[in-house]
Amino acid sequence: MRWAYTIGQVAGTAIKVHATFLLLPAYWGYVGYLEGGLSTAVVRALFIVGLFVCVLLHEFGHILTARRYGVRTPDVILLPIGGVARLERIPDDPKQELRIALGGPAVTLAIAVLLYLGILLTNGDPTLRNPEFGPVPFATQLMWANVVLLAFNLIPAFPMDGGRVLRSLLARKLGLVRGTRIAATLGQGLAVAGGLYAFSEQLPLLVLVAVFVFIGAGTEATSVETRLAGQGLRVQQMMVTDFRTIPIFATLAQAAELLLAGEQREFPVVDNLGRTEGLLTRDDLIRGLSLRGAGSTVQEAMTASAPTVPPTLPFADAMERLRTSGLPALPVVDGRGTLVGLLTRDNIADLLLIRRARG
Ligand SMILES: [Zn+2]
Repeated sequence: MRWAYTIGQVAGTAIKVHATFLLLPAYWGYVGYLEGGLSTAVVRALFIVGLFVCVLLHEFGHILTARRYGVRTPDVILLPIGGVARLERIPDDPKQELRIALGGPAVTLAIAVLLYLGILLTNGDPTLRNPEFGPVPFATQLMWANVVLLAFNLIPAFPMDGGRVLRSLLARKLGLVRGTRIAATLGQGLAVAGGLYAFSEQLPLLVLVAVFVFIGAGTEATSVETRLAGQGLRVQQMMVTDFRTIPIFATLAQAAELLLAGEQREFPVVDNLGRTEGLLTRDDLIRGLSLRGAGSTVQEAMTASAPTVPPTLPFADAMERLRTSGLPALPVVDGRGTLVGLLTRDNIADLLLIRRARG
């Protein structure tokens, strides 16, 4: 995801923060500053940091439950609507998905209960009293924030946890694809209704939430459809076999000619012995041309770090490699080091369209 920055790693899961998440402490800090100056602004910002920790604990509720079923989570992204732990796969057993979906809300509920007990034990006030009688204590605010978080997460629509619960229940009767589509359509409908309401009431943060819910619901539906359409495929069935390579010592002028001569946009770069040395993407070429000129070599402009994939790699792993590489294509190299194909995003999209059309 763009605009997401890794801030740390816990138990093999990278913790990422989306740039828009920082709007929260900024907004709350600003509101606090208007109300009571710098000290109020600091308290408000600290509150968001506390909430951030609660959201992370919620996500680790999902992550650790998933791990019990052998599902890894490469990263978790914090968005203004909460966290999204990216599961490597959805377990085939809907009962396991149900438990993973409930793992997060269970943690949030536990935090709220612990805060409630803590407030009672210290003779605090667990109610949200009228602000005229002084500010609401920090722990009470945090407890109620967790209650809101819990309620929001249990809305039975994607991308909220409740949507996963609904999907796993629907999937038992209707199958994964239809179950997902219903939960996603519900999520998008709610997002549109909520977004219009927030817009008419001039609640900018809520508009942002609605946008993220809408996008999240669509992403979930597409990823499930893609995964099912690609089931059973291996790289050798997905790769382009009719493609051109470019020698490592060719000039960028020659590379530009090759680019314009056909539809191919990414070229595996090979040495004299035919070994794959990297990948020249269209972006590499354009950047190389403007920085170094047409006389410079492919070697200077190519992405040397482009990973290669074996032809036997399954669909889901291949998609993951493409995604993490950030490249539009990857060279396919077999066990003997021979370049046998080119795995491109465009070609995979075409293949999936054909498979879906055939049913
Ligand atoms: Zn959750």
